[in-house]
Amino acid sequence: MLPKRIGIDLGTANVLVYVKGRGIVVNEPSVVALANRDNTVVAVGRDAQAMMGRVPQSISVIRPMRDGVIADYLITEAMLRYFINRVVGRFNLIKPEVMVCIPAGVTSVEQRAVRDAAEQAGGRRPVHLVPEPLAAAIGARIPVNSPSGNMVVDIGGGRTEAAVISMYGIVVSESVRVAGDRLDDAITAYIKRRYNLVIGERTAEEMKVAIGAAVPLDPELKMEVRGRDQISGLPKTITVSSSDITAAIQDSLATICSVVRSVLERTPPELASDVIDRGIVLTGGGACLRHIDVLLAQETGVPVHIAENPLDCVAIGAGVALEYLEVIKRSLPTEEETLVASY
Ligand code: ADP
Ligand code: MG
Repeated sequence: MLPKRIGIDLGTANVLVYVKGRGIVVNEPSVVALANRDNTVVAVGRDAQAMMGRVPQSISVIRPMRDGVIADYLITEAMLRYFINRVVGRFNLIKPEVMVCIPAGVTSVEQRAVRDAAEQAGGRRPVHLVPEPLAAAIGARIPVNSPSGNMVVDIGGGRTEAAVISMYGIVVSESVRVAGDRLDDAITAYIKRRYNLVIGERTAEEMKVAIGAAVPLDPELKMEVRGRDQISGLPKTITVSSSDITAAIQDSLATICSVVRSVLERTPPELASDVIDRGIVLTGGGACLRHIDVLLAQETGVPVHIAENPLDCVAIGAGVALEYLEVIKRSLPTEEETLVASY
């Protein structure tokens, strides 16, 4: 049977689609490969990602959501269409009801761009939107319906968002464009500076996942890395340790910690005391970085827990949120409010 309701996590790194009763049915990188001659789509998702850094000049491999907003509208739409079609079929007569998450605090123009892209891509009008921290909290099974403070920190590819939620509403939130991608960039820069080795984007991410840690590890992990020697220009292999990665990413992690602290400082006292009792819940791929919970707990003095399946929370939450449409609508900023906030 075709799914009637789907939740979509349109992430900067990964797109996930959740269908009630079936679970996560799509989980692919947000990458599109295009033929430069006529801008036709060559590949989407994992297939496109495999081409990154390995294509002739006639093809461009693009991450259309890079900084947590729609950087390239038409390509985002093509990507969404591809994934929606895969779930509901290309020739469906009944369009599915769709809930897409958007970062908290995006402007009304950006909200409209996401909604338009999802409608153009085959979602029933109107496509519904849910603020990402709220979806993350619902997906992490935090009791967001109660009048108590719950804090969720989502560390994705393009953005880190920290929010305190009570009764389906976001009370305080802050977001910063420092997350997984920035950690990868920091690793690339560090390896170049320290070892004169030029590495690609994928290699930096692989190192972060394989041996990265937010605080020094004992014993350390090591990994062989291949790249191009900056001086000789030839391929070279070096051994990198987890302490290299920790050193490379420490400034970015400090920024993430300060965002979390700043949200805590702005949280009204009753809610803050709930957060101290219940702890902060981490979601997003960044929650998988070794000891990120230890670092955040140390820097905030609040206990930190990692959600179960942190990468899936937002998509699950978006799907589940379709069942609470009225209360979710209440939590969205009105167009006027967003306009005020963005000027
Ligand atoms: P988005 O919501 O922006 O699509 P995700 O929540 O899917 O982002 O998380 C993707 C990010 O998480 C990427 O930057 C990826 O490198 C990072 N990530 C995934 N697994 C790990 C891991 N085990 N350790 C560190 N970072 C990870
Ligand atoms: Mg995300």
